[in-house]
Order: sequence, then structure tokens, then C-alpha cells
Amino acid sequence: MPKDYYETLGVAKGASQDDIKKAFRKKAHEFHPDKGGGSADKFKEVNQAYQVLSDVQKRQQYDQYGQTFDEVARNGGGFSGGAGPGSAWGGGGNPFEGFSGGAGSPFGGGVNGVEFDLGDIFGDMFGGRQQQQSRRMRGIDLEMGINLTFEQAVFGVEKTLTLEKQDTCKTCGGNGAAPGSKVVTCPKCHGQGQIHTQKRTIFGTVASSTSCDRCEGMGKIPEVACKTCGGSGALRQSKTISVKVPAGIDNGQRIRVQGEGEAGYRGSSAGDLYLVVTVQSSKEFNRDGFTLLKELPISFTQAALGTKIILKTLDGNIELKIPSGTQSGTVLKVKSKGVPNINDPSRRGDLLITTRVVTPAKLSKNEKELLKQLAAERGEAVQVDENLWDNIKDSFS
Ligand SMILES: [Zn+2]
Ligand SMILES: [Zn+2]
Repeated sequence: MPKDYYETLGVAKGASQDDIKKAFRKKAHEFHPDKGGGSADKFKEVNQAYQVLSDVQKRQQYDQYGQTFDEVARNGGGFSGGAGPGSAWGGGGNPFEGFSGGAGSPFGGGVNGVEFDLGDIFGDMFGGRQQQQSRRMRGIDLEMGINLTFEQAVFGVEKTLTLEKQDTCKTCGGNGAAPGSKVVTCPKCHGQGQIHTQKRTIFGTVASSTSCDRCEGMGKIPEVACKTCGGSGALRQSKTISVKVPAGIDNGQRIRVQGEGEAGYRGSSAGDLYLVVTVQSSKEFNRDGFTLLKELPISFTQAALGTKIILKTLDGNIELKIPSGTQSGTVLKVKSKGVPNINDPSRRGDLLITTRVVTPAKLSKNEKELLKQLAAERGEAVQVDENLWDNIKDSFS
């Protein structure tokens, strides 16, 4: 949980944007690490608080949820899917936006008439801007649900999926250059992707670097922008892919398909595709990890005398021996007829058969006689319930 940003800046909850700016200016001066009595940690806290409270949208999120969506994303919290702050297509999340010195700066311009860029100072100090930039280039990850039958999950399957996404432009092959034109070194940054500057500030001379705005940090630009994609190297289109679902996958698990997320900016690496698996239940089997479970009803004569029965498994029919004297609830193990281990398909779980001895509910007159004889033979007391309907029915059979 982040600190109370209002407290950090020493302002009231309802403070105006102007008050927040003033308070930040005061605190930043107070805690600047280069000053006596300064503190890098405190300075960072103040900066962090200001980043949130100076941004109307972020401030609203903070007021409502106690943190911003960016922070939740960074902390690995619940807001999944969607374009993160660093999405190539979802708009920039540069925390230093609107921070470019001059009249708009909370420091109200530089000293000695020298303009300076506060964004540069902070970007340089905390590496914020560069990190932001590189995340902006990579394509975003996608998430998609897939449905599998019980058998497909057990044995694996090849799935054909069609998805709509920002994908590599076929006209330019992703580099953003019109056919026949070249990708050339950016003339503004000379291929560095960064603009290095030295500026005099109230804190002394600060060397800083910002991402080049001409090439967006790529160091290269297309000579003539591709008309199909406008030079970004990607556009929204549908793509059909084939995905191998591994044997042994289970309900709720995710499959990562590397590089099948959205395309990156001008040929930068693509995001990944995550498939969230839903497995249909089976009427015949239950599953516990790699173990298959099945209930098998048997008659009480089969249980008492033993038998061999034909049992349906996922691999076809097998012969299962029911030993004499089998109780209801006895577990019979059929080795290696369960689910393949997803990490090592050569290893398979077992199939566990739980017997359920079924007591016959309807008996013929003859069957009753035989059972009475059995009871007498075993010295067991029985109280035969002579049902009127049974007697009528028996008289017809
Ligand atoms: Zn193109
Ligand atoms: Zn450049």
C-alpha cells in the first residue's frame, strides 16, 4: 500500500492543483539530495506523490481506490488484460508528461534565465523515462479463453485459433518504410535513440538524456513512411494460428504462446498470447491432477464371488478383475491409464476405480427364495417384507 500522498506533500485532501504544485515545489527543495539535510528517499516519495496528485485522472483513481491503476499493474495486482501504461498502442503512460520546464514547471523556470527540463532531471535520476520508453516499443500481451473437451485436455490437441490484433504490416514487413524506401539513421539523434544534454539548473549542472522524439528512441526512421500502416509497422487485422495444447493440461491453466500477442512498434518484439483453458467435465471420469477417478457399480453377487468385467477407459476397453469379497468403496488401481504428466508425457497417472456394491431393489419370487436360503445357511435373521404389488406382479411372471 502506498503512503498517503496528501500527507507526503503536506496538503489537505481537497487541495487545488495549484496548491499541490506549490507544496511539491517546497518539499522538493527541502529534500533534494544535493542539499544539506536532503534525503534521496524522501525526495523520491515527494516526487511519486506529485506524479499521482498532479495528474487529474490518476488523482481520481488514487482517491477512489487508494492507488492508481499503474501502481496496481506494477504490483502485480488484479487489473489484467488491457493495455498497460507502456502499451505501444494504448497511449503513453509517461509519468513526466507536462513537466517540461518553463512556465508550466512547478519550479517556475530556471535560475539565471536558463530554462531546464525537470522531466530530464527526474528521468535521469531514477531511470524512469528510459524504462518507460522501452516498454512502449514491445507489443502488448493478449489473453484469450479456449474450451477443450475432457479427452483433448488429457491427450493434448492442436487448436486453430483466429484472433483480431495489431499484427505486422504485410506491405512493409513491420519496419514502417514504404516499399522501395529505406530505413535510415535518425538525423536528430544520429542513431543513438537518445538526446544528451547538459543543463544548468538550480541544483547545478545536470547531464541528462531523453528519448529522441523524431525516431521515438528507435535510432532509425523510415525514409518514406509505409502508407498501409502509417509507418508504425503494424495494423489491426485477423490472424489464424495453430497452437499445440500439451497433454495433461487442466482447467484454469494458462498456455503462453510466445510472440503471438500484438506486434511491437516498427519491428520491435511482439507481445505474448496467453490462452486460459476451460475443460468440459466428463460423465465417465473425474480428475484429480494426473489421476483419473471412476465409480463402478457392481452387484452384490459379483462383489461376493468376484468376476472379470470389461471396463471403458480413455484408452479403450480393458478387462478388470474384481476379486471375490470386494467391499463397497474398495479402490482398484489401473496403472498408467490416467492423465499424462504435463511436464513429462511419458509418465502417466493412474486410473482409480472405486467400487459401489448395488443392492437389488426388486427381486423375483425365485430370487427371494434363494436369498432366504442363503440367509438361513449363514444364520442371518431376515424379516421379509411381503409387498402386495410384488406378489401380484410375480403371479403374472
Ligand atoms: Zn507498413
Ligand atoms: Zn532519433
